Amino acid sequence: MNKGILVVVSGFSGAGKGTIMKELMKQYDNYALSISATSRAPREGEVEGREYFFKTKEEFEQLISEGKFIEYAQYVNNYYGTPSDYVFSQMEQGKDVILEIEIQGALQVKEKYPNTLLVFVTPPTAEELKRRLVGRGTEDMATIEARLHRANEEAEYMNHYDYIVVNDNLEVCVKQLHSLIQMQHTKASNCYKFINEIKDELKAFSKGE
Ligand code: 5GP
Repeated sequence: MNKGILVVVSGFSGAGKGTIMKELMKQYDNYALSISATSRAPREGEVEGREYFFKTKEEFEQLISEGKFIEYAQYVNNYYGTPSDYVFSQMEQGKDVILEIEIQGALQVKEKYPNTLLVFVTPPTAEELKRRLVGRGTEDMATIEARLHRANEEAEYMNHYDYIVVNDNLEVCVKQLHSLIQMQHTKASNCYKFINEIKDELKAFSKGE
């Protein structure tokens, strides 16, 4: 089988992606979560190199010009991007690498790497989304409004994803995501090494070797 695969998880801000990712990492050991760079300020409790690599706008633009990102995007006035080095080295070691990124970045990755699995996580209703954003208490009302507005724009692109996962129950959601990733490994387009090996063996048989 091929080495690790690339998985993109997106979802409205407040959909609970962060919690799902933490739980997925805790329950299974074959996943590596990519750590993004961002120009937004750290939230309380966030640690450099754990949630994000925090950069100034200028530092971020320098990294863009050096071609250090697989993808990057602007989201509610800040830059976010996925550094390439970590992703490719983890995949090379056989890990499935998960990018928790927003839609513009997700579509860039799918275009560059069509075998990527794209999953969109959403709360069951828009009302519930708002409730979770307000309840989180980490953003002021203007930022919450901006994020809800952005969610409205993002909803237009949900149908570009391979799967939609409704986050109603954390445990169910984590299992579902794990199953989707396992399924992705069996896609013929992700099994070219296996296919080539068995083809070569069969060729040898048919030649009477
Ligand atoms: P937050 O500020 O809430 O941490 O993240 C805002 C949005 O940026 C979320 O939708 C998150 O998934 C997305 N995001 C985080 N890292 C990246 C990245 O490297 N690239 C892109 N395109 N989006 C990202």
